[in-house]
Amino acid sequence: MKQKGGFIIIREIVTYDIHSKDNPKVLTSKTRKVRDFSAEETVECIRDLNDTLDELIRNEGNKRGAIGLSATQIGVDLAISAVTLGDQRYILINPVLVEENGKQRLFRIGCFSLYEYRAMVRYNDDIVIAYYDPEGNRQKLALKGDQSCVVQHEMDHLVGDLLFERLEHKEKDLFVPREAMYKDGTVPIENHGEIFESLRSKGFTKVVSPEEWYSSLFNDYTDYRSYVDKIGNENAYLLDTVRRYTPGKGRIIEAGNGTSALSVALSREGYEVLYCGTDGDMLELAKRINEQNGTSVSYKQSDIYRLPYEDEHADTVFSYEVLETLSDAELASALEEGLRVANVYVFMVPTIAIIANTLKGNEHLRSVDEWIAFIERESHQIKEYKEFDNGGYVIFVIS
Ligand SMILES: [Zn+2]
Repeated sequence: MKQKGGFIIIREIVTYDIHSKDNPKVLTSKTRKVRDFSAEETVECIRDLNDTLDELIRNEGNKRGAIGLSATQIGVDLAISAVTLGDQRYILINPVLVEENGKQRLFRIGCFSLYEYRAMVRYNDDIVIAYYDPEGNRQKLALKGDQSCVVQHEMDHLVGDLLFERLEHKEKDLFVPREAMYKDGTVPIENHGEIFESLRSKGFTKVVSPEEWYSSLFNDYTDYRSYVDKIGNENAYLLDTVRRYTPGKGRIIEAGNGTSALSVALSREGYEVLYCGTDGDMLELAKRINEQNGTSVSYKQSDIYRLPYEDEHADTVFSYEVLETLSDAELASALEEGLRVANVYVFMVPTIAIIANTLKGNEHLRSVDEWIAFIERESHQIKEYKEFDNGGYVIFVIS
């Protein structure tokens, strides 16, 4: 779509091909500062960034309340980014970081120039930037969370840094498309051009996609019995905690969205176990696992905000790597619903301290302190909690 003279011009996005040794230099070069706000190249760049970002938002949505595009991504080496924060568009010219509170967080981020890739990157959670608007006025903007992440990512573009510069957990942070990989989840580094050369020089040996990681769960098992044994052993403390709060082989609900392995493990021991999940395919798999184990978990398809049970139906409700995928509002409603149907809610979640290779990418990671503050703010009582894996996971029992 290209028209001149009062019509919309939408530029093609410059992309980076990690398989190629011949990538456009504009994406990896430092941009020029804007000196003349009324120069034709400045005005044109701002207009095209606006139009192109509008088109991207029409196609992609503004998923997390923040989305951005930088001049280098439309092939222009000027220090200009366009970002939409909430429903407001900002044109950031010569932006600089002027304040940050020292608190950093992992964000999962994608980039239109590396479209199929996702990475876990660490950015300041709370910043103030200074920039010029298109009229040449100096402005300041305070940003938090996802908005802070998106703006810092755009500022990285203006110095020629792609996602690679922010990767922290070598081998683990870069998620690549399935077709680029061997069956074992490894990537043949030698076949992947200059970026992988540079990653290798930084100590990377492999990259794993979330899909590969997930499907690899099943490769190690010859049958679903050994699968349940393994998951049960790995989560022995979680199972113990659920047992402690479920006297006399009482009734347990799992609010899940996985294979129900822990429900099956508890059903084997004689507990009455009810399992709820949203994903129909996963639920079918879960039922097969139950059947092959000869256990009697009862399955219902339902989301965790409306559990299909009466008040105080069970002794215990538990969730295992589910609640971290919820926003604050969703989490508040899930905890309330769980505590409606059971006396205690036992749940295990990864925290911001997790090593990122086991993430699926849809997490809202919180620190242990943030979890505690959240639970208390929602007026629930923390009966106990325990951290694992150097704080990478935490189990809470709340009522
Ligand atoms: Zn980007």
